[in-house]
Amino acid sequence: MRASINIIFLGAPGAGKGTQAQLIEKNWDSKPLATGEMLRRISSNMTSDDPLPAKLRQIMAEGQLIPDDTMIELLQQEIGREKYKNGFILDGFPRTEPQAIALEEMLAKNDLRIDAVIMLTAEEKALCERILGRVFCSECGANFHTSLNPPKQEGLCDACNTKLERRKDDNLETLRKRLDVFHAQTEPILPYYKEKGLLTTIDGMREIAQIAEDIQNTLASIRK
Ligand SMILES: [Zn+2]
Repeated sequence: MRASINIIFLGAPGAGKGTQAQLIEKNWDSKPLATGEMLRRISSNMTSDDPLPAKLRQIMAEGQLIPDDTMIELLQQEIGREKYKNGFILDGFPRTEPQAIALEEMLAKNDLRIDAVIMLTAEEKALCERILGRVFCSECGANFHTSLNPPKQEGLCDACNTKLERRKDDNLETLRKRLDVFHAQTEPILPYYKEKGLLTTIDGMREIAQIAEDIQNTLASIRK
């Protein structure tokens, strides 16, 4: 049985959130919503009359963080799209407690709520290996890994045959910085979701299928 559900994925960069979001999508109607991809898509819109894409390009070019109220506004627009009418799997937001609170308020205004928060844990050494093998399809958004989740044909997307790419920021130096930010910002929001009874922590260092099964069981249990 397929059903819709709103999920937040937490976990260090490379903990397997993108891969697991794709697997959830096969059993549930919820669609992956990676905020990094959302921002890349919106900011690359050069033709729109909307001043937002240009503003985002400037913020990102300066290496600044997108202000929380802007992110909430963007997310509100995004989850209003037809694609997300049966739920979303949010990855990349929130990263701080004020963001978590603002997200909850915005969702409540739209008669929505978070059903589950899943934290994928990972060891840093294994994360490095994972990050450096990561490739994705810029055409359809599918994610693969050169050794852990290889495409059927090397370097090509299974779904649409497009040449797979590495993200520019998938290198060791950037990873270290992102891990520092992750520890500093995301870990403090875990108690927030735990207190609400929404948090499930899953060991993300096992086989992809095992992790998927744990996630599946967690989601099935909250739908009972
Ligand atoms: Zn593709």
